[in-house]
Amino acid sequence: ENLDKGLEKTKSSFFDKMSKAVAGKSKVDDEVLDDLEDVLISSDVGVATTIKIINRIEERVARDKYLGTDELNKILREEIAALMSESESGEAANIQLPDVKPYVIMVVGVNGVGKTTTIGKLAHQFKSAGKKVVLGAADTFRAAAIDQLQIWADRTDVPIIKQKMGSDPASVAFDTVQSAVKMDADVVLIDTAGRLHNKVNLMNELTKVKRVMQKVIPNAPHEVLLVLDGSTGQNAFEQAKQFTAATEVTSLAVTKLDGTAKGGVVIGISDQFKIPVKYIGVGEGVEDLQVFNKYEFVDSFFK
Ligand code: GDP
Repeated sequence: ENLDKGLEKTKSSFFDKMSKAVAGKSKVDDEVLDDLEDVLISSDVGVATTIKIINRIEERVARDKYLGTDELNKILREEIAALMSESESGEAANIQLPDVKPYVIMVVGVNGVGKTTTIGKLAHQFKSAGKKVVLGAADTFRAAAIDQLQIWADRTDVPIIKQKMGSDPASVAFDTVQSAVKMDADVVLIDTAGRLHNKVNLMNELTKVKRVMQKVIPNAPHEVLLVLDGSTGQNAFEQAKQFTAATEVTSLAVTKLDGTAKGGVVIGISDQFKIPVKYIGVGEGVEDLQVFNKYEFVDSFFK
């Protein structure tokens, strides 16, 4: 229900356009396919993924000779879900905490995408599941970033390790994992600075943060979560490209899907980068982080 509400705009825009595309038509013909292509592109699915989807529908039309417009939604659902193949089981794909303790999650992303908020929401989820959480304020570039993380630490009542603005992010990360080990914490969430203006700097900084953490925990970080702002549509693709080039990204969170009609971006990103989308942000509140499930997501477009 929360998901349906969070994706309201994407859903109604997609649904309206789809209805127009098939209005007065009983079978899927070239014109319907052209319109469908426009609908997918205007929902920010992205050109490459849209072409894949259209090709798949065309193949089905060719194979079965006839495809009724009444069946189009069902076929579209199947084909879209099939493209988002990395969560094949369809199981909700949240971050599982294995026996590793503490489990270190480094969170990356450009400023303003909702990184701090996502960390706060995750802290709340892990804490509610009975886990001991520690936050690390390794985005030392902006004072506001440290303050924001502190607010979330207070709100969720979890400890935070921080230093002064301008201090070495790697040093904060080191302190954080060291404290987490001492506190016998289950999970560590490390905030990092997301400055993209200089790719080499970004890469060097993230590499250094990782290397220093590994002095305490050899396999850290166990997870690198990239946060993308879904409301920026194609910009989110560009950011995914740059971050995946700078560091190994193991999972994605796409935020701000409430209040945008660009929710299709999740489909394109999931197809193009083959990195599992594990969470979607559908609001500013502590509860507004959904564990991503591709079937539920795709279904919500057609409800
Ligand atoms: P950061 O700079 O990446 O750490 O971004 P913040 O976490 O400070 O978030 C920037 C703004 O986006 C804040 O006003 C958040 O409340 C808002 N925000 C974050 N996630 C979501 C979301 O899923 N939905 C909405 N509507 N707003 C969000």
